[in-house]
Amino acid sequence: MTKIYLGPKCRLCRREGAKLFLKGARCLSEKCAITKHAIAPGQHGARRKRVSSFGIHLREKQKVKRIYNLSDRQFRNYYKKAAKRPGVTGLYLLQILETRLDNVVYRLGLAESRRHSRLLVGQGKFLLNDKNVKTPSIIVSVGDVIKVANEKGVSLQEDREMPVWIKWSKKAKEGKIARLPEREDIEADIDEQLIVEFYSR
Ligand code: SF4
Repeated sequence: MTKIYLGPKCRLCRREGAKLFLKGARCLSEKCAITKHAIAPGQHGARRKRVSSFGIHLREKQKVKRIYNLSDRQFRNYYKKAAKRPGVTGLYLLQILETRLDNVVYRLGLAESRRHSRLLVGQGKFLLNDKNVKTPSIIVSVGDVIKVANEKGVSLQEDREMPVWIKWSKKAKEGKIARLPEREDIEADIDEQLIVEFYSR
């Protein structure tokens, strides 16, 4: 069974000691729990200092899994898919994660957070190549066009930086995948090599 954490979102950021941007506008505000106190949750959170090599690898995997709001099983399957390809597994893994339809909608600033984006996709608010889709896990390809089908609940997050690998047309309210994201297009504070090493143990 697919298990996704449904508890308080800020607790996940505090556990990873990093901003995972799970709550939309609040994440950019002074109210962000990480901005206020960057310690792990729980009464012994402040004392968790020594981390083993396994712990470092595990935490990176958990962090990225949580950023993209995935279950362990989904994340492992994406890793396996990336590892089957010859070449740089870590980059392929990130490209798969980035090209999930719910992530693309989030990147385009059409949802407050990835969780919100998943909800909107499930409600059929977007067209993929002119077809109504409701599956957030669809992996989009170069040339695909994502368009707003139903504007109710969808509002453009003006403060979101548009990804350079997607061409956005404000007038048509559609985004075209111009190319696959390269490493420099994805958050620098992710260490995908640690994830590859975690699964290669
Ligand atoms: Fe994480 Fe956002 Fe909560 Fe800050 S406000 S701790 S980034 S979910």
